Amino acid sequence: MLKIGHTVTLPSRKPGGPLLSIPVPEELETVPGIPMREEDVDYYTKEYPLDTLNVEERASRDWANRIRDLHPEMREIRLEHERLNRGLIEAARLTGDLEPTAPAKYGKDVTEEIRAKAYELGYLEVGFTAYDSHYTYGRKRDYVKFEHAICLAYEQDYEPTQTIPSVDAEIVHSSTYRTEGAAGLELGKFIRTLGYRAQIHSPNDNTGPYIPMFVAAGLGQLGACGYLLTPRAGSRCRLMVITTDAEVTYDQPVDFGIHAFCQVCQVCVNRCPGRALMRDKVWWRGVQKNKLYFKRCRPVMARYLGCGICMKVCPIQKYGMQAVLEHYAATGNVLGKGTHDLEGYEISGKGYFGPGELPLFDRTFFEMPHGRAEDWAFEELKNKLKETGGLEDGEGEEAFGVFKTKLATAMSLSDDVLAMELEDYIA
Ligand code: SF4
Ligand code: SF4
Repeated sequence: MLKIGHTVTLPSRKPGGPLLSIPVPEELETVPGIPMREEDVDYYTKEYPLDTLNVEERASRDWANRIRDLHPEMREIRLEHERLNRGLIEAARLTGDLEPTAPAKYGKDVTEEIRAKAYELGYLEVGFTAYDSHYTYGRKRDYVKFEHAICLAYEQDYEPTQTIPSVDAEIVHSSTYRTEGAAGLELGKFIRTLGYRAQIHSPNDNTGPYIPMFVAAGLGQLGACGYLLTPRAGSRCRLMVITTDAEVTYDQPVDFGIHAFCQVCQVCVNRCPGRALMRDKVWWRGVQKNKLYFKRCRPVMARYLGCGICMKVCPIQKYGMQAVLEHYAATGNVLGKGTHDLEGYEISGKGYFGPGELPLFDRTFFEMPHGRAEDWAFEELKNKLKETGGLEDGEGEEAFGVFKTKLATAMSLSDDVLAMELEDYIA
């Protein structure tokens, strides 16, 4: 039995229900939240402001959409999500200007009222922290109106998630976003009845990457897979934020032991078919984390039903944080590691891969356009001009015409178009 450094105790989601009690062995203790250098976070925010991957990686996004759309069901899922989600996003965008519907009882902290209502609406995890503008996309800077962030995690259904990569998992992936988007609008209405303003940040119209605020609000820690690992459902959650001017009390970051545990576990790193997850942590924009090799991930996601194997094989997703850390504390082993139940997966057209087995892809598999759409169009033009006789040549002139069309398309991408797509997570 390992020596326990501290125990994280969380209340039940239901009145009178069992507490969650997570033993964190001394050897897994690091810091509450995530190791961070605030001056570096500041520097990168000022010099290299974030933008959504839907823009920064537009060229590969368009490429991936074309490949996914060759699969009729995947195409249908995407189009249906875009159709059903549009109204939710448009409604959310208007919420920052809505007035409260009742007078506020100033001096009364409403944290627990909001938390209880959020649970009632189906959210699995609810936490409060300051809205952190370090993580606002440049294009959304003027959107955010209020200083407090309510972090809301909605659980994705267990069964279909275990079938990843699959059409069923893709259906539940997008439908969970819509369910929580609708619940967010309801929670906003409730906050307005308390006398305060509430701005909904749709889960598919992100104002930035939300995970850092969830970590600050004590709702989990960043896993090696790049997802937030929440205590009850691990990475099997979809995240959104509401900002408000309500009188609330902030939660605090927690050391669940995950920062160190991932370095012991490494199941997602070992099982990723694209070998896209880093084994070791690096410092990135002021935070210490395992980074993703994006160019090794997207080609797999595009061709194999959105992949997501790193979510499926995570023991914390499958068994919950308490069970996994209890098992580790008792045995020094990772629950489920090396078993077919946890690590096995089937890739359509490639077959089944059990523990220790990975599919092979040749180098060309990973070749894809990358970067912003306009930058990629320019790269293509330069290459074409090198092959031909330059702009004076007929073929060169034609290539320049193609470039102009692509540039116009790239420049016309509105926020609306960008928002209607699921955003890939940023690890
Ligand atoms: S989505 Fe698939 S390819 Fe990408 S990191 Fe996860 S397991 Fe690897
Ligand atoms: S599979 Fe293991 S290493 Fe990967 S995120 Fe889950 S706990 Fe961390």
